[in-house]
Amino acid sequence: MSHISPFYPSEIACLAGGLEPVGAPHSGADTHCAMCGRPIIHGTPAVPRKVSKTFTNFEWMEETDHICGWCERVIEQTTLRAFQRVVITPKGCYSIGTDANRSWLWLTPPQPPFVVIINSSTTGAFHYLWQTPVTLDKRLIMANFDGVTAPVRTAAIARAVAAAQVLRDTAQAAGYKKIPFSPFVRLARDAYKATPGGHGRLSETALELAAKYPECERAVQDLHELKPGELVALASILKAKPVEPEAPPLRCGQELFSKTATEQEA
Ligand SMILES: [Zn+2]
Repeated sequence: MSHISPFYPSEIACLAGGLEPVGAPHSGADTHCAMCGRPIIHGTPAVPRKVSKTFTNFEWMEETDHICGWCERVIEQTTLRAFQRVVITPKGCYSIGTDANRSWLWLTPPQPPFVVIINSSTTGAFHYLWQTPVTLDKRLIMANFDGVTAPVRTAAIARAVAAAQVLRDTAQAAGYKKIPFSPFVRLARDAYKATPGGHGRLSETALELAAKYPECERAVQDLHELKPGELVALASILKAKPVEPEAPPLRCGQELFSKTATEQEA
């Protein structure tokens, strides 16, 4: 097999699953993959572009007539199913179906390179894998949320968690009776699929505290600066009933495609 390239999500998925690229070594003019965009040069495993009738993601495809051997391998339905709520590394995958597992990712991401995919639909296996940029620096996670790639700054997540703590501590010291764990009215983990009312809006209590106390004003300022992907990431952390972060086991090879790999949802 050719040398490992950390830049292409399908190749990382193949490494995780112990899968070889399919197709014949390319022999024509240089081109690139219609799916992941990787260059296809002399000798790169590739196949002519031919997609199934059920495939509908044409708007994401490049105008070329070839698909690289890694993309062709991972778009088989049974394979694609393993890459729906997951952090994919060259050594294996971490399942992130639960909020406990997602909290682990956002608070303590693993060593890059990795690919983060969160498909909120538990019934469909979608083609998110090959369109997701590989995260190369854990300070800036590029996550695919329901087909939209959004950046998540790990420092912004840590600042938001600290800000929520400041608001809770101040509320307690000021004698507030009911102190919510989250300073938000609501955060939805599937906000990229359907945005519910109140998503990302700060609670009355948080705004009231910000108007009274300078440290709360600073905390609320940090929360105002969060980007859309970060609000969705925080939905797993700043919950009404918070959960402890939990590192998922690293699964690789055939384990990824077995029935026992079926994740739990929380
Ligand atoms: Zn490709």
